[in-house]
Amino acid sequence: MDKFSFLKDELDRLESEGLLVKPRTVQGPLDAWVQVDGKNILNMSSNDYLGFANHPHLKQAAKEAIDNFGVGPAAVRTIAGTNQLHLELEKRLAEFKGAEATLSFPSGCACNLAVIASLMGETDTIFSDELNHASIIDGCRLSRAKTVRYRHCDPAALDSLLHEHRSGRRLIVTDGVFSMDGDIAPLKEISNLAREHGAMLYVDDAHGEGVLGEGGRGIVSHFKLDREDVQVEMGTFSKAFGVVGGHVSGSRDLVNFAFNKSRTWLLSGSHPPAVVAACVAAIDVLEKEPRHVRNLWSNTDYFRKGIQKLGFDTGRSQTPIVPVMMGDSAVAKRFSQRLFEEGIFALPIVFPMVAKDKARIRTIMNAALTQRDLDEALAAFENIGRELKLI
Ligand code: PMP
Repeated sequence: MDKFSFLKDELDRLESEGLLVKPRTVQGPLDAWVQVDGKNILNMSSNDYLGFANHPHLKQAAKEAIDNFGVGPAAVRTIAGTNQLHLELEKRLAEFKGAEATLSFPSGCACNLAVIASLMGETDTIFSDELNHASIIDGCRLSRAKTVRYRHCDPAALDSLLHEHRSGRRLIVTDGVFSMDGDIAPLKEISNLAREHGAMLYVDDAHGEGVLGEGGRGIVSHFKLDREDVQVEMGTFSKAFGVVGGHVSGSRDLVNFAFNKSRTWLLSGSHPPAVVAACVAAIDVLEKEPRHVRNLWSNTDYFRKGIQKLGFDTGRSQTPIVPVMMGDSAVAKRFSQRLFEEGIFALPIVFPMVAKDKARIRTIMNAALTQRDLDEALAAFENIGRELKLI
């Protein structure tokens, strides 16, 4: 028997259940309008919240970094892979966030895996929101700590679990903004509980930075929390910053610890100069051009109100992630296909990413969309909604 037949069997199963991943191909720069699979369509699917992925200042910085430093470090950070640009980026991001120090990672996913796993061990307890990002879930697994899931965004449920589970070091971990629903964790209440119970607090701000808080400084700024109350703040350069890479911010000790203990950091080649320089440039633009964050929020308010007025349900959304609830997976897929035909790029989110009856079209706003673009999108949602008898 072919010992690899399980590959085909599994792929066939995924195909028959409609779960096989078949990404569309983007054929030009990411912007409000994108060329996707040969079609120029309106982009409501990327995490490029501020339109930075094609921003001239970021592109210029990347080009200059190639001229000055070449294309790749060809080493891990601890060998020959620490360039002065890495240190500049970490300093600038820490200042931007008001933290003592920052460490950058190959990706946000790599950061969650390594930092959670290095902070916690077999005798410790992690309290994790039930809807946390999968990289947090895997970080918890890697740590081998006991992991207790608490009801989504429910401080009372968290409180009673903190009373119940007292062994070892304790860490509360939550997404700041939840990527499927666009709701915001009640971080003030959670940080109060962490303080009362003597637990550490870890927040994944991947969808909050560049979006929430003063000038896009993120969730800690949004809730006006003391820096010391959120001891570990993780994030990514792959969303609002428009580039790629993860990072963790906190005390100098935390960063030195992560520096010495994070295997995904120690074992991976460091980011090429162009990437790092573009990330620094993203911070420049955030600091100098506050209009991007303002546009993002006015687009979000306009679109969310418009879609609700049409009679659609946007669930718990409080941020530029605006899910349009469809219920049934087949309907969500059909809707997304029709949107594509009408020139709108907005993808369906179905089981197992969300519960079976909670399929949705997830739209993600960005600052580069104009009111005319949003009106076009709303008209398409209205036509298809009527066609499929959803409104
Ligand atoms: N956390 C959350 C909440 C995310 O949505 C993502 C990206 N999907 C990540 C972490 C991982 O970030 P990265 O893309 O940098 O690996």
